[in-house]
Amino acid sequence: MANIAFIGLGNMGGPMAANLVKAGHKLTAFDLVAASRDQAKADGATIAESSVASVKGAEIIITMLPAGKHVLSVWNEVIPAMTKGTLIIDCSTIDVESAKQAHELAAKHGALSVDAPVSGGTGGAKGATLTFMCGGEDKAFAAAKPVLENMGKKIVHCGGAGAGQAAKICNNMILAVSMIAVCEGFALAEKLGLSHQALFDVASTSSGQCWALTSYCPVPGPVPTSPANNDYKPGFAAALMLKDLKLSQDAAKASGASLPLGAFATDLYEIFNNAGNGAVDFSGIIQQVRSLGAQP
Ligand code: NAD
Repeated sequence: MANIAFIGLGNMGGPMAANLVKAGHKLTAFDLVAASRDQAKADGATIAESSVASVKGAEIIITMLPAGKHVLSVWNEVIPAMTKGTLIIDCSTIDVESAKQAHELAAKHGALSVDAPVSGGTGGAKGATLTFMCGGEDKAFAAAKPVLENMGKKIVHCGGAGAGQAAKICNNMILAVSMIAVCEGFALAEKLGLSHQALFDVASTSSGQCWALTSYCPVPGPVPTSPANNDYKPGFAAALMLKDLKLSQDAAKASGASLPLGAFATDLYEIFNNAGNGAVDFSGIIQQVRSLGAQP
């Protein structure tokens, strides 16, 4: 079992940290928010007075923070304070460029580093069933894998520095575009008098089949566990989908990729968020798809 420092105890980091304690690790944790620190203490972590204090004696450091600027700021603070040879893992979803800068910072100080963003949401964080998409050297990934297994069920090595973040934003862009396509399919079916169940029964076993349809159907009925059956409570909030889409657009600009559907999906989720739906599940965009429809 390892001495682990965990920084960022929010909706995801809190339950992930609790799972590390449950697995028997000695956890020292820090968050800017007192309520999150209190919860981590109740879950069995030792609370440090600052990020820098949390890494004293740590063999592994894990960060779970909102965005690239937070990760770079915390890594800049803690890396000079940590023991040489420590492994540092960032599980936040951040832009690829910041992830690469973070790896460079770690390498300068002789630390092994991994970018390891997750999918699976807060349910996956609580249940230790997250998927981790990892970027970094083989040696760093091999060192990170056992501890990530205490918080997730699928750990994938995607490549070198930043490859985990790249995989995450590509996947979520595919998801956003396919969700909008599924919503448009149901909106058209409604106009044509075709029942939700009939479209589902056909498309889910035909070439229109995709995860957004078969696991996360945006209309109530065909998939009982989908947020559509629960008033579009997340699930995966539209604000987080917009964040990931913007990261994919930034990466497209920086790398010269052309993503017209990704760009359009970003615009549609921006409109949906600006209308006050940031906390709604991202499949709730079907309401906007319907309302934008031309009247016959
Ligand atoms: P959150 O806002 O609930 O938690 C972030 C935490 O970081 C907060 O508690 C905040 O106080 C803390 N923090 C910020 N700056 C800090 C600093 N300098 N020092 C210490 N603590 C600091 O966010 P979340 O939902 O836990 O998401 C975390 C990351 O995981 C994000 O990058 C998000 O995009 C990603 N993610 C979230 C989900 C989800 O369903 N919530 C799913 C997949 C990925």
